[in-house]
Amino acid sequence: MREQAGNRKRRPCHPAQRCRCRFARAVGPPFGDPTPGPVLAPLARRVTSPGVDLRSALLAILPDERRVVDGESVLDQHGRDLSHHEPRRPDVVVFPESTIEVARVLALASAERIPVVPFGAGTSLEGHVIPIAGGISLSLARMARVVAVRPDELNATVQPGLTRLALNTAAGDHGLFFPVDPGADASLGGMAATNASGTTTVRYGGMRRNVLALEVALADGSVVRTGTRAAKSSAGYDLTSLLIGSEGTLGVITELTVRLYGIPESIVAVRAAFATVEDACEVAATLVATGVAVSRLELVDGPTLRAVNAYKGTAFPETATLFIEVEQTDDDVREMCGTALTYESDSDPTRRARLWEARHHVLHALLASAPGRLHKSTDVCVPVPALAEAIQRARAAIEMRGLEASIVAHAGDGNYHVLFMLDPADPSERERAEALNAEIVEWALARGGTCTGEHGIGMGKLGYLEREHGDLLPLMRGIKALLDPAGILNPGKVFV
Ligand SMILES: Cc1cc2nc3c(=O)[nH]c(=O)nc-3n(C[C@H](O)[C@H](O)[C@H](O)COP(=O)(O)OP(=O)(O)OC[C@H]3O[C@@H](n4cnc5c(N)ncnc54)[C@H](O)[C@@H]3O)c2cc1C
Repeated sequence: MREQAGNRKRRPCHPAQRCRCRFARAVGPPFGDPTPGPVLAPLARRVTSPGVDLRSALLAILPDERRVVDGESVLDQHGRDLSHHEPRRPDVVVFPESTIEVARVLALASAERIPVVPFGAGTSLEGHVIPIAGGISLSLARMARVVAVRPDELNATVQPGLTRLALNTAAGDHGLFFPVDPGADASLGGMAATNASGTTTVRYGGMRRNVLALEVALADGSVVRTGTRAAKSSAGYDLTSLLIGSEGTLGVITELTVRLYGIPESIVAVRAAFATVEDACEVAATLVATGVAVSRLELVDGPTLRAVNAYKGTAFPETATLFIEVEQTDDDVREMCGTALTYESDSDPTRRARLWEARHHVLHALLASAPGRLHKSTDVCVPVPALAEAIQRARAAIEMRGLEASIVAHAGDGNYHVLFMLDPADPSERERAEALNAEIVEWALARGGTCTGEHGIGMGKLGYLEREHGDLLPLMRGIKALLDPAGILNPGKVFV
């Protein structure tokens, strides 16, 4: 690699930076070189077999053998996710500890046309972190510091590798919390990069609503800051929102400033079982439409609760059930759940956890009940009033295709998941699940919904993005070409 690199003229360091490094233009002007490269230049890697030379070049940036790793187990860990997508190892995994190190790795990779896949906690579900073109997996695990918690401003600045639970520990010391809660203990950088949301989205929104500002290292090694700590801003294009949900294809997030909220003094948890999914969804839609201040509004269907009971030895009613949390009192919720077969509520923290136990155990139950099987989840989001019909149709289609699957929904958002545990030895099962997903997506799009409410496109939903926003793809490709002209950042994800 060195020889080939030696034949090329390196880009000079940016003058404002007064940098003496070998490779990088580190902190430079927004978007670096103003002349965009060719639109989505195909990734013609100059380094076909990086091996020792790539390691040496990376070690010059990260001078520590433990931070430039090509041992098999580490490559394996960074070559797969928790889903059914085929694993593929990176050539090397790097563990930078600062923005400048991230920037220098990117500058090297851009110059050498080496793919770089940012890696947070690796909990995404659509093959996002799988380096399908090989190259560098760039782990943010060693950039996991809380930079500042500002209780008076209700915000915090953190490094991207910090996980949401660690942030909540730091915020909790000030009586504050960060609400976005995907089921896994994901990193804040990964959550921003997928525009994650969770059970509290109905009240607090997802990542896009809760990130005020970003620091981002761009593909050429320049570093930009978007947004401010002000509660709002009308200053030009909203590049923070553009970068959120970009799945590591436009830049590497190296710092985030996020909103915090006061921990509510009183929370009431509710579990209400209904005769049908339709009844449960109708109540959910009414709660949302009338603006009752629920902070969580989740649905688990009957067959899924049967699986939970079998796993836990519990006896939850095996029928569509709403799991609700409300701040202050549940009087309005109780009134609106008039059609419920059973209704239980509690504000004591221990008993609250017990009321929600079945919801929390859905994924554990599925994983435990299907050892060796691979997880696949659908993720459409529809307007809330369409949710009941969407779920009924999905359940009927599951049965018609002879599949087994659970259904859980963030009912307050109209976002639901059909969760399959697929037998890797049975390709027809995977095909039937994918065919069902395609049907579910078509139906959702026809009702004004989206193919993905929270998981993102990754490599698993490329066709669905085209189906949903095909007319916008040229615009998206133009943005990609401006920010990443060599196409090194997470190639093959979001669109090709
Ligand atoms: C049990 C379970 C439940 C889940 N429930 C939910 C849920 O309710 N809601 C939800 O939204 N998701 C859910 N998910 C999916 C997953 O947790 C989210 O997608 C999460 O946001 C991924 O964060 P991560 O740190 O694991 O990112 P990773 O998986 O490491 O990366 C995800 C994507 O972001 C990119 N990336 C990572 N870090 C950076 C960075 N610093 N800069 C730029 N790009 C970066 C990666 O390249 C990749 O494309 C669930 C997953 C599991 C396993």
